Amino acid sequence: MKYQNILETVGNTPMVKLNRVAPPGVNLWCKLESHNPMGSVKDRIALAIIEDAERRGTLQPGQTVVEATSGNTGIGLAMVCAAKGYPLVVTMAESFSIERRKLLRFLGARVVLTPASEKGTGMKKKAEELAEKHGYFMPLQFENPANPDVHYRTTAREILDDFGDTPIHAWVSGFGTGGTLQGVSRAMREESPATRIVVAEPDNAALLGSGVPQAVDENGIPTSSHPHFRPHLMQGWTPDFISRITQHAIDADFIDELLPVNGADAMAASRQLAQQEGIFVGVSAGATLAAALEVAKQAPEGANIVVMLPDTGERYLSTPLFGEISEEMNEEELALSTSTPGYRFDSETVAAPTVAPVSSSADATAFVEKVVTEEPVVMFALEWCEFCWTLRKLFDALDVPFRSVDIDSVEYQDDNWGVKVRQALHQRIDIPTIPQVFVGGQHLGGCTEVIKAYHDGSLLKYFDACGIHYRRDDSINAWSFMPQWLHSRYSA
Ligand code: PMP
Repeated sequence: MKYQNILETVGNTPMVKLNRVAPPGVNLWCKLESHNPMGSVKDRIALAIIEDAERRGTLQPGQTVVEATSGNTGIGLAMVCAAKGYPLVVTMAESFSIERRKLLRFLGARVVLTPASEKGTGMKKKAEELAEKHGYFMPLQFENPANPDVHYRTTAREILDDFGDTPIHAWVSGFGTGGTLQGVSRAMREESPATRIVVAEPDNAALLGSGVPQAVDENGIPTSSHPHFRPHLMQGWTPDFISRITQHAIDADFIDELLPVNGADAMAASRQLAQQEGIFVGVSAGATLAAALEVAKQAPEGANIVVMLPDTGERYLSTPLFGEISEEMNEEELALSTSTPGYRFDSETVAAPTVAPVSSSADATAFVEKVVTEEPVVMFALEWCEFCWTLRKLFDALDVPFRSVDIDSVEYQDDNWGVKVRQALHQRIDIPTIPQVFVGGQHLGGCTEVIKAYHDGSLLKYFDACGIHYRRDDSINAWSFMPQWLHSRYSA
């Protein structure tokens, strides 16, 4: 399949049957919204809202877009804005996962964090302030009819077409903006009225289940936090208010059943999907499956149940979903490691690094001599070696100018020059490893030696002795610049 741009790949997500998690006699079908280009259901509304605004002329070419989002809408908008050339600002509560912030910034968006204590309302108010002050366009995902409409036109259409004449016993979803809920259930009522619309919400923040109405203004826009809101694990679900879009679905009597879902059950279901079906999704998806498993218990033999899985699990690596997933080998893995003789971490079996025989050329020896005597701070380095980057970060943090002799870079490849320089260095200091640092002609050692020298003060003494200026900053922890896979070894 060929596409003219990434935006054409939004939607048409697969419907995948569960084979090991579903109870016998019931067909559980998952709508995998992680197959959207940026990995979530919100790609649909990001594209729909921007194109709707373009058609209406409410968004001008090059105008900045600002939106309050728990992440997925922002990530979808960032893709759409990047592809179409609109700058994007996202306001987001600080409590959403770090991956979301980084993804957004990688896609070129600016992320303005808001205090977690101010919840969803706070981030929305901040976006409004910024829009008013700077003349930005606001997609207003919680109110914009283009949100439910795209689910009516695409998500629901895809589901109905997938099943054709085969009856759908139930459709199970949570809600955030309520766009998926309102759009799909409206289409179901029109074309498949026998389908039960089942809506899941966090058990500790059952806003709909409470029956307590949302305080709203004359336009149906929420004016305050709902009294039953509590912080919960299902990022993207149940903000601290019932949106106008969700309220429309309630008022139209689209909801047949409400199911509360416990956070631990949601994470367990997400793990179950990964480990028993090979389907990798986030927490709200796990929560929806947990609800669907409840529906399946009451379902007639042969029933087809459609489960909305809104996003990918990759967005949750820093959240409790991965809380029990260790970076280190567990007992079982260590036992596997030691079940064969080689390539283990108990010392005697670690193979010694193989070192090329040392022979040096006169011009390489002269080059090393010249560099270490002429440069105040020099590091013999490999261009992309993580330990070399560790020291580059340290020198940068200290504002110390240094020369990095990157012996494996293109510049050093003619006539095997880099290899010769490495051999000359090895011969000079009798150490084969890289990086190696010299200050004022004095050899200090490699990465760990330099970090230790920084923390015991001797590196700074060398700088002082050579008249090298550096930034004094007691807060620098040089170990934190080490590669992330080593942090556990140095944090003890
Ligand atoms: N799950 C996740 C992970 C989400 O980001 C969202 C969107 N906020 C939802 C579920 C709910 O979708 P909707 O906004 O259409 O109700």
